[in-house]
Amino acid sequence: MPHELPKAYEPGAIETRWADYWKNEKLFHAPTPPEGHVRNVFSLLLPPPNVTGRLHMGHMLNQTEMDIIVRWHRMRGDLTLWLPGTDHAGIATQMMVERQLRSEGKSRRDLGREAFIQRVWCWRKQYGGAILDQMKRLGASVDWQREYFTMDDNLSRAVREVFVRLYEQELIYRGKYIVNWCPDCGTAISDLEVKHEEVPGKLYEIRYPVVGSKEFITVATTRPETMLGDTAVAVNAKDERYAHLHGKKVVLPLMNREIPIILDELANPEFGTGAVKVTPAHDPNDFQAGLRHNLPQIDVMDERAHLNENAGPYAGLDRFAARKRVLEDLEAQGFLVGTKDYTISLGKCDRSGTVVEPRLSEQWFVKIEPLAKRAIEVVEKGYIHFTPDNYKQIYLNWMYNIHDWCISRQLWWGHRIPAWRCGDCKEITVARETPTKCSKCGSAQIEQESDVLDTWFSSALLPFTSLGWPEGTRDLEVFYPTSLLITGFDILFFWVARMIMMGCWFMMPPEKPMRAGEKSKSHEEALRNSVPFREVYIHALVRDAERQKMSKTKGNVLDPIEVIEKYGTDATRFTLAAMAAPGTDIAFNPNRTEGYRNFANKIWNAARFMFMSMDRLGVTRAPSPATAGTTGVSGFTTATLEDRWILSRFNGVAGYVNEALETYRFHEAANRIYDFFWGEFCDWYIELIKPRLMSEEAGRQNAAQIACNNLVSLFDASLRLLHPVMPFITEEIWHAIYDGKPPLQSIAMAAYPQADQKQIDLESETHMVVLQDLIVSIRNLRAELKIEPKLKTPIQVYTHEPEIRSVIEQNRGAIERQASVEQINFVETSLAKLPGARHTARFDVHVVYEQKIDIAAECERLKKEQERLGKALTSGQSRLENETFLAKAPTDVVEGLRKQVRENEVLLEKTISKRKELGCP
Ligand SMILES: [Zn+2]
Ligand SMILES: [Zn+2]
Repeated sequence: MPHELPKAYEPGAIETRWADYWKNEKLFHAPTPPEGHVRNVFSLLLPPPNVTGRLHMGHMLNQTEMDIIVRWHRMRGDLTLWLPGTDHAGIATQMMVERQLRSEGKSRRDLGREAFIQRVWCWRKQYGGAILDQMKRLGASVDWQREYFTMDDNLSRAVREVFVRLYEQELIYRGKYIVNWCPDCGTAISDLEVKHEEVPGKLYEIRYPVVGSKEFITVATTRPETMLGDTAVAVNAKDERYAHLHGKKVVLPLMNREIPIILDELANPEFGTGAVKVTPAHDPNDFQAGLRHNLPQIDVMDERAHLNENAGPYAGLDRFAARKRVLEDLEAQGFLVGTKDYTISLGKCDRSGTVVEPRLSEQWFVKIEPLAKRAIEVVEKGYIHFTPDNYKQIYLNWMYNIHDWCISRQLWWGHRIPAWRCGDCKEITVARETPTKCSKCGSAQIEQESDVLDTWFSSALLPFTSLGWPEGTRDLEVFYPTSLLITGFDILFFWVARMIMMGCWFMMPPEKPMRAGEKSKSHEEALRNSVPFREVYIHALVRDAERQKMSKTKGNVLDPIEVIEKYGTDATRFTLAAMAAPGTDIAFNPNRTEGYRNFANKIWNAARFMFMSMDRLGVTRAPSPATAGTTGVSGFTTATLEDRWILSRFNGVAGYVNEALETYRFHEAANRIYDFFWGEFCDWYIELIKPRLMSEEAGRQNAAQIACNNLVSLFDASLRLLHPVMPFITEEIWHAIYDGKPPLQSIAMAAYPQADQKQIDLESETHMVVLQDLIVSIRNLRAELKIEPKLKTPIQVYTHEPEIRSVIEQNRGAIERQASVEQINFVETSLAKLPGARHTARFDVHVVYEQKIDIAAECERLKKEQERLGKALTSGQSRLENETFLAKAPTDVVEGLRKQVRENEVLLEKTISKRKELGCP
């Protein structure tokens, strides 16, 4: 038999085979098109997973959505590029390799910088990119030929170019700044990497003696150890209580240092005593106040958060040990005047969980305002569009309040900052090429900055650097701006916002002088085309079946690979798509995946039926370019109502699905395809054409062959419709339809169905609704009457509409077969009042059947039923009287048993009275 599918649908074997085929045949490679090319372009960037990453449900959702959109565009004939790659993930990767070293009893310092970086590259070679292999299993149709890594030479050069240009534009500067310092990771971390937690803590009140008087000023703090670095006490100028102390000084307890009383808004008269201590080196607000008043910055801690020589007798202590000692000493010397319970918002390092220390350090910054201004403009003007649209405002609010971006990280793994410090004159030389001497004094004593760039710095550039920037490549010309970005909310600020800032900055060509009137237009055009992507779709979270967030601590994390192994990738993808309503979190329940595995099974079995019919009737599908290129159902002959109806429905569904995908309503697309494929196509259409497929008319192109051709045409088109959501099973069956010699290498290259208005036939749809309604009504009536399936019954039908009557008459055969009817009699009066008849707006129907009951058999059945219930009742009652059982069994078990006993009592009574009714012996 030519068209053979294995009897059982086994996704595992099919899926790995096609995943390999797609990749090996380079089917998803988007070649750089030559000049003059006119096809529509659709391009998008895969949010690069960390090279250390493992696939989780969030990726699975993200990639399923991207792949649906990408396959859909590709099938619509667009030149489609989906660009994959991995991120070097500075801190995550460095920690992974450091952990490995620790297990060998070594540290990165033992190796030294060069050797350590070599070690990371080895690690990456061995383990990195596992996540891309997992992606292959999902069927992600990325362009594997263009895979990049953010530390590739060309990308690293582009990063350096961006850094140098920003520096030349005076948008990068070095400065002392209060940063979030993680003493464990030994690096500055961004605000976004700090997780805040409300915890119970203490507020300590400390009094500072005023110099030259017997007065004290009381201040409050949650971190008393930082007082060692105080350089002022602030009061509010409007605060009357302190008016007489303006211009005076206090003595800093424990350190015996005189510090000024300053007037600053930092002090709020409404809060506490209205006086605050000022520690510019250890608090971001105090830092700003310190700048306003030219206060010294006294840093009392080192990079591990141990107190340093500036902390006098406390030097060498860990910050928490120091806190204890400081409090003891303050108390002993009479400076501690109160301790109150206080809820603290404690910032912890997202990665290590260590309490973050605000710390003064020398860092590199991007002056963000000019970049942010443009990034705000393009979103306000709608040049970038967000879905769901509430993210637009979330984005804008964040951009309006943005701070300069601290881009340096005290790590070894990453893009090392291209700046060299002169050992002689201290000048900083920033350069594209590694310099050999100081740019100011010419000294050869120069050393490169040891910090690397924040990982998000390089990933912010990817939309253009991955296409060849700074070269003016043809790829950039064709694929930039990318069409779409699909990502999660969690990286909206880390990544999405920064890509917009960098894209709009570096992809905006310098303005050329223009004649009056032309400038603004060309400026707008350039601005519109500087964006990294035109659309942003923010997807939801995948939660567990109980809508709980998945987390390792809760132990409710679902591994997508496990779900795939159990139910198949197609079913897993379908589950996510069917639930992916924009803006709604997904409660992932594997039971649903099982349901969609059954859907795949249904399609499989329908395909097997089709292949059996093709082989029996000698029908083949010619692999002509016409059948591959069609956007509809090709080679379909409308001979009957069901033909006209299914063709009309197919076109309606195709129209709906295309519209849904335009607006990322994945759930509506998936559910509509499901209802069509299973409900209308398999359950109705195939059933209705079976008699035609079996007809014995002779000759070429006989009724059976025409019906079979129709079935094949429709199956082909329906597979194409489903393909973006379930790529594997559709590929498998599609190849089998063409007997392994399809017109194209893959269904992924075939045309996506579009609605053809000419094939929409609303009359046939109305008629089919009546027919289905009639058949379902008869089936239900028969079920109520408990009529054996094999027994055919006559029906009576009343309708006042001649049109409906003729539909029923023309489809007598279908009604008879589908509803086990042996004769249809039309009557002239309504059957609405007749008991057991069904009344609808367009017809009434009555199943003519006299209930015949075999009394002897029924009596026998009832007798057995009575015995069974009697036994169950006695056993239940005796358990309920058993004291030991009652004492040991859980309450819900006892309650369940009581309920069961009560139900059995009722059933027993009913059985007894039924026997009496029938006059049973
Ligand atoms: Zn940390
Ligand atoms: Zn120099």
